[in-house]
Amino acid sequence: MKLNIQDTFNKELPADPITENYVRQVENACFSFVTPTKTVNPQILHVSPEMLENLGLSKDDSQTEEFKNVFTGNEILTNTQPYAMCYGGHQFGNWAGQLGDGRAINLTEIVHNNKRWAIQLKGSGKTPYSRTADGLAVLRSSIREYLCSEAMFHLGVPTTRALSLALSGDPVLRDMLYNGNPAYEKGAIVSRIAPSFLRFGNYQILAVRNDVPTLKTLVDYTIKHFYAELGTPSKETYLQFFKKVAENNLEMVIHWQRVGFVHGVMNTDNMSILGLTIDYGPYGWLEGYDYGWTPNTTDSQHKRYRYGNQPNIVLWNLYQLANALYPLIGETEGLEAILSDFGTSFEKKYLNMMRSKIGLFTENENDQKLIQELENNLHLTETDMTIFYRNLSRFTKENMESGFKTIQDAFYNTNEQSLELIESWEKWFESYSQRLLLEKETDTERAEKMNRINPKYVLRNYMAQLAIDAADKGDYSIIDELFNLLKNPYSEQENQEKWFAKRPDWARNKVGCSMLSCSS
Ligand code: AMP
Ligand code: MG
Repeated sequence: MKLNIQDTFNKELPADPITENYVRQVENACFSFVTPTKTVNPQILHVSPEMLENLGLSKDDSQTEEFKNVFTGNEILTNTQPYAMCYGGHQFGNWAGQLGDGRAINLTEIVHNNKRWAIQLKGSGKTPYSRTADGLAVLRSSIREYLCSEAMFHLGVPTTRALSLALSGDPVLRDMLYNGNPAYEKGAIVSRIAPSFLRFGNYQILAVRNDVPTLKTLVDYTIKHFYAELGTPSKETYLQFFKKVAENNLEMVIHWQRVGFVHGVMNTDNMSILGLTIDYGPYGWLEGYDYGWTPNTTDSQHKRYRYGNQPNIVLWNLYQLANALYPLIGETEGLEAILSDFGTSFEKKYLNMMRSKIGLFTENENDQKLIQELENNLHLTETDMTIFYRNLSRFTKENMESGFKTIQDAFYNTNEQSLELIESWEKWFESYSQRLLLEKETDTERAEKMNRINPKYVLRNYMAQLAIDAADKGDYSIIDELFNLLKNPYSEQENQEKWFAKRPDWARNKVGCSMLSCSS
């Protein structure tokens, strides 16, 4: 196995001088060196062929003992020095102090085809940032992270990637529902890949500690490697940097809203400086279109991270990043201007994204109202988001009366359709048909375009759970089936219609399907 190793993070940034592995506060440093914990009986369960290729590895490489050992933390690549990053974060709105890579260990960075990739193991043992926890991950959460990060990539959503999913062979104790019933589960390790795993929290912790020199070093490092087009560091460059980070995160959240992804734990330690979806925990996919939905039971009271609130939270998190960058800039005006642009920019981009979902590719001043009415209607009765938009593409100008019929498959309750519901939709379809007359596409052309924006297949919560339940019994075939299905989320796939279906009734209130905790 030959990787083109080119470390920068652990070479260019200040390291924690202590190399023993015990829990501590780490100051004046960006990371601590740490070795992954060896596991009893590692077993690779799945490998992403696309990521192998991105790293310059072959399928044969992935079948070697070396591959298995390296990507489960049992063997360290020569000339590499694994490490855990130091970061802090706001959790559910409150500053939580130092967090850091408690169960992630960065192995190395490689460059292939001029692209830099950092390789990280999740679940390979304790680090100085593990606090009171064990540094491990269980199979269910690892399957969810593995499948979802690759699925998100194929949906066109900026995300960290995953290379491999493995069993560690070690049991892991978890109280899944936090109700005093801990049980042993299978331990697992995902190797995940991204240009960088830097989070808002990496900058915040330095600012909070008033460690401006290290903050400057880290920001300069980030610009040099990931925002190189901004040029030499200066106050103006730092502002431009913040602007870019804001734009990238705005872009990301618009995609989330487009595909119905709800992250579930948008704490500032889970916000990527590159605007990537990062840290797949108690995330979920909208089934019924509901602004108030959150998959995370830990958040069920305030629903801070509910679907409809995600863009606001991105902005809230950007305020925290602005605070962290302030010491390098020394004045608030520029930062405030960028933050206030976010709102206007969001409105515009959201509107365009929603236009495209319903097949409008030009702008009209009444579109905002049309889309608002659409969203109101989608909330009238539980309506499956994915099926709704997919079916909407079948609506034709020739058959304008057929609107309600086209979409009614998306309703969860098909028996009870109130007059109010039918009338609201008929009214909406009237406006929609009028609006469509202003577009140049034929029905077929519009449908084709819409179907490249509205996925047919997403990783519905119950689908991941089916893969998990089978894997718990040693059957990994559903992981492979879903992995392949989700490579082409916008295409019609023969023999896969069964995955284009509403959530089955058994999954409505099942743990893991609609209710997820942070316990992973
Ligand atoms: P999260 O919000 O789940 O991404 O994690 C919040 C913080 O808790 C991060 O610093 C994680 O590294 C840490 N953490 C979560 N689970 C574990 C675990 N099992 N062992 C050690 N640290 C953990
Ligand atoms: Mg996290």
